[in-house]
Amino acid sequence: MRVLVLDTSAFIMGFNPTGSGGAYSVRSVEDELVQGTMPYLRFRLSREKGALVVRNPSDVARRTIEQQSAKTGEAGFVSEADRDVVALALDLKNEGLEPVVVSDDYAVQNLSEHLNLGFGSLANFGIVHRYNWIMVCPACHRRYRVPEKVCRVCGTELKRKVLSRTRVSNKAHPQSLGSNSTSSS
Ligand SMILES: [Zn+2]
Repeated sequence: MRVLVLDTSAFIMGFNPTGSGGAYSVRSVEDELVQGTMPYLRFRLSREKGALVVRNPSDVARRTIEQQSAKTGEAGFVSEADRDVVALALDLKNEGLEPVVVSDDYAVQNLSEHLNLGFGSLANFGIVHRYNWIMVCPACHRRYRVPEKVCRVCGTELKRKVLSRTRVSNKAHPQSLGSNSTSSS
């Protein structure tokens, strides 16, 4: 059975788990979303309605992800939430499901590919946004460009913040799932 595993970018970009036929995410994604925003509310509502299962990955899967991300050089580019999302997908695959990681984050897609996990960008699910996001240091409030993940000044893990977002198209391309191609916009 195909299930979707949603990372922070999926919620920020407006993916709605309701009606997706089985969606999972992790607690650390909820922590990355800003309270009171639409993505945060969508996360909470989907879980309350039973459309989203929030589950933490196993320690074994977490270790596998840490080793893999160190090996492929993604370690500095993936947050704890990113790692947990891919680790949960690994657990679900071991349970006999067919997880598809939904993410617009290149490091997350790359990590999924190395672990032979299915993945798709938001464009694969009919959501194409032109967006600008930046990384903000929660400690000293300095701003960085993606894919910076750690504050160069104080060493704190950066948080994603969306500056602007525009919905561009609403066409679905479910057949291209798992490929790394994104539609032009
Ligand atoms: Zn800082």
